[in-house]
Amino acid sequence: MSRIPVEAQARFWAKVDTTGGIFACWPWLGGRNAKGYGSFAIGGRHYMAHRIAMEIATGEPLPPDQIAMHTCDNPPCVNPAHLRPGTVAENQRDMAEKGRAPFRQHPELIRRGERHWFRLHPELAARGSRNGFAKLDEDAVREIRRRWSAGESRTDLAAAFGISPSNLWLVATGRRWKHVA
Ligand SMILES: [Zn+2]
Repeated sequence: MSRIPVEAQARFWAKVDTTGGIFACWPWLGGRNAKGYGSFAIGGRHYMAHRIAMEIATGEPLPPDQIAMHTCDNPPCVNPAHLRPGTVAENQRDMAEKGRAPFRQHPELIRRGERHWFRLHPELAARGSRNGFAKLDEDAVREIRRRWSAGESRTDLAAAFGISPSNLWLVATGRRWKHVA
């Protein structure tokens, strides 16, 4: 389970510009460090905003030896779809290779509006499904939003649809699956 309280998650997303839509970079509107990475405080401690974004999206903290890598090379971006876990060595290699091999999304995933790193990394997808990454479709998304508006609780709905509560909230509030009306 994520260590990030619901209150902090709401505070977090209030500082993110998601107006560009699901494919766009989501710039962090709060404080940034010298390198341009966002900074977010929980309980008086400061964390990298993009690392927190990934933890909220996956529902679990990154292992200490892992970093949240930007596939978009945009330090202030906190769109979880542009982040994937990696090691420092991997990140350096990735940065060195970027010029020759830019990050590409599978066209089918773009068509379906799914650009999440776990879909590009099957070995992590298996791990994800144990942590509540059930597959949603458009009907499920509409149903979630209908029941959310009717006042059903986040935890009940998350359990009913087999997704993590943080993911449920992103879907229910329209931050994820924006293209579904
Ligand atoms: Zn980005």
